[in-house]
Amino acid sequence: MAQFDPRRQPMRLAPHCLTAAAALSVALLSGRVTEPVRAQEAPPLTEAQIDQLEQRALNVASAPVGMQAPETIPVQIRRGETFEQAVRRTGIAPAEASAVTATLSNAMDVTTIRPGQRFETAISQPRGGRGDARLIGLTLRTGPASQLTVSRSFDGALRLRALEEKVTHETVVLSGKVEGSLSRTVRREGAPAEIARVAGRLFSHKFDMDREVHANDQFTYVFDRTVTENGRTIGSGDLLYAQLKGVTFYRFQPAGAREAQYFDSTGKNTRSAFMRTPLERGFRVSSTFGFRRHPIAGYRKMHQGIDFAAGLGTPVLAPSDGVVVEARRWGGYGNWLRIRHPNGLETGYGHLSRYASGLRAGQRVSQGQVVAYVGSTGASTGPHLHYEIWRGGQRINPAGVKTQEGTELAGADLAAFRAEKARIDRIIAAGGERRPQVMHAGLRPAQVEG
Ligand SMILES: [Zn+2]
Repeated sequence: MAQFDPRRQPMRLAPHCLTAAAALSVALLSGRVTEPVRAQEAPPLTEAQIDQLEQRALNVASAPVGMQAPETIPVQIRRGETFEQAVRRTGIAPAEASAVTATLSNAMDVTTIRPGQRFETAISQPRGGRGDARLIGLTLRTGPASQLTVSRSFDGALRLRALEEKVTHETVVLSGKVEGSLSRTVRREGAPAEIARVAGRLFSHKFDMDREVHANDQFTYVFDRTVTENGRTIGSGDLLYAQLKGVTFYRFQPAGAREAQYFDSTGKNTRSAFMRTPLERGFRVSSTFGFRRHPIAGYRKMHQGIDFAAGLGTPVLAPSDGVVVEARRWGGYGNWLRIRHPNGLETGYGHLSRYASGLRAGQRVSQGQVVAYVGSTGASTGPHLHYEIWRGGQRINPAGVKTQEGTELAGADLAAFRAEKARIDRIIAAGGERRPQVMHAGLRPAQVEG
C-alpha cells in the first residue's frame, strides 16, 4: 500500500505550521518504529488509525497560500494509459502533470509503470474554485520496502526523494488469551493469515476447536516475519512453535525429510497420526456409530459411521496422508469419496456437495488438505458429512480409532531436535528476536535528493 509519509514531508514543506496534531502523530509514529518486539505488548495502532494521523498531519502542514488543504487522491493506472495521463486525472494542469512525470523520470523509467499499479497523490484545490488544482505530493511504491516521493517545496519546485524503509527479519513471540475464536484473536494481534491457518490445523489434532477452545485459554505462537520500519508485514515466514492450553508443537526438519514437521516437546510427531475429525470447525456430531432409528426408512438400522452436521460447502480435510481410491456417486451415499491411508485404514465420506477441484482416484493427498465439501446428496435429510473408517474391508467405529499415534525421533535426529527446541525456548524466554537487514530495491541512485 502506497502511503504519503508525513514524518518526513510536512517538516520539509512547511515547518512553521507544524501543529500540535502533526507533532502528536509524528511522536506516535516514531514511537511505534523503535518499539522493541515483546510478548504481550499493547496492541499497535491499526492501519486506519495510522492513516488518519498521517492524513491529519499532512492536511494541517502543507496547504499553500490561496489553496485549500490537500486531499489524498489514490490513483490506479488504467489499461492503455500512461503514467502522465493517470496523473492528469487528479485534475492538475497538463504542464504540471508533465513536470511531475519528468521529475520522477530522474529516478526511474516511468514507461515500466504498468496498468493496475497504484500511487497516491495529495492535491490542493484553489480557494473559490478558480484556477487549476495543484499537486502537493505523489508517492509511488517501487518495491516491498521502497518508494519514490515527489513533493512541492516552498519555492514551488518539485523535489524527488527515494525512501527506503529499513526491513527487519524478526521472530515474534505472540502470547495472549483467546477472545472469540483462536484464529481471529491471533490475526488481530498481528499474526499473518498463513501462520494462523497452520497453527489452527495443528491444534485440530488435539482439540475440538469449537467446543474445547474457550475465551481466556492461553496461547503462545512463535513465527518469523519480515517487517518494515512502518510496521507493515511484507513477508510471512515459518511457524516455529505453537502452544495452546499446554499442548505444544515445535517445528523441526529431520535429516532426509522432504519438509519440516511439527513435534511435541518429547520429539513425537503428529504428522502420521489421524486428525480427530475431517472437519476443522463449525460442525456437531448429529449421529454416532451403532444402531439407531433410520431418519427416512423409520426402522432400526446399523449406522456405519459418524454424522457431522455442518453447513453446505464446509471443507472436508484428509485426516491423514493417503491416496484417493474412489471419488464417484454411490447410491444412497450420493457423492462418495474413499481414501486409503498408509496405516492400513481407509476413510469414507458420503453426501458430499462436490470434490476439491481436480480430485480423482489415484491421487495422493496430504493430511489437512481440502478434499471435498459437505453436502446433502444421496439419501440425506440435510447438509451433513457421513464419515466412515474401514479396517480390512470392515467398517469400524471412528470414535475408537487412536488419533495420537505418531512416530518418535531417535538418535541424531532427536539430538538435533533437542538443540532446535532449546533455541526456540531461548527465543520465547527473550520475548522475540530481530535481525535488521536493508533490502535493495534496485533504484537508480543518481539525481535523487534527500
Ligand atoms: Zn451417516
